[in-house]
Amino acid sequence: MKPFVYVANWKMNLSFTQEVAFAKQNQADLIELGKKPDTTIVLCPSYCSLAPLSELFKNSSIALGAQDCSAYKPGAHTGQIHAQTLAELGCTFCIVGHSEKRTQCHETNEQIAQKVAHLIVHNITPIICIGETIKDHRAGKTVAILEEQLAPIVAAFIHAETIPPLCFAYEPIWAIGTGVIPTPEVLKTTYAWLRAHLQQKLGHASQNTRLMYGGSVDEQTSAKITMLADIDGLLIGSASLDFQKFKKIVELQR
Ligand code: PEP
Repeated sequence: MKPFVYVANWKMNLSFTQEVAFAKQNQADLIELGKKPDTTIVLCPSYCSLAPLSELFKNSSIALGAQDCSAYKPGAHTGQIHAQTLAELGCTFCIVGHSEKRTQCHETNEQIAQKVAHLIVHNITPIICIGETIKDHRAGKTVAILEEQLAPIVAAFIHAETIPPLCFAYEPIWAIGTGVIPTPEVLKTTYAWLRAHLQQKLGHASQNTRLMYGGSVDEQTSAKITMLADIDGLLIGSASLDFQKFKKIVELQR
């Protein structure tokens, strides 16, 4: 059985001091929670907190993830962070293509695919976020948008015998931070399409892909979401900053 993955995306909600304090305050409980069988917990703080958190959670099963990485090779790219640095800091996961980065930094699908390529070289599992706007959702364009977002990533692996582990997180933009979650029908249809699409494009190598969900997951909604959809993990934003809520989400699952 694949472990069920819980990704805590802290975004830029806390300062460096606050992130480290939060991690220290919940260190023992997080390590205990991480012992749950078939479970992987990934903490994604801001870049600056990766080193101290790596120290706090060394020798535990708590994994560390970054919230982004550069699409470029090492060189003159002021303000960017390369996958190798993330690996040296102890990251084994990295979120890419989050809708906030796509919107606020105008990221393209091709740049996201380049990030994926760098992460793989450094044995970091990419968590690739995909999802449509409410306008596209209402216009029935969800599948078309997802297909477009996936295209350069899928193309990179199309003839591969085996592929590295890849996580795809379906995060409808209209569900992020809104308290609105997709209906069971929408989830069923979307995940069925995603699985079939990856299988069609990648063949048996698609077994190394995981499908996750993100968008307004909390302790009230998580069980409902994962019961209904064929998913292998959750990407949790605001609820991951309340340790009691996060703990409940992990404990409730399966
Ligand atoms: C996210 O932005 O990845 C996310 C899932 O946020 P929230 O849980 O706050 O909707």
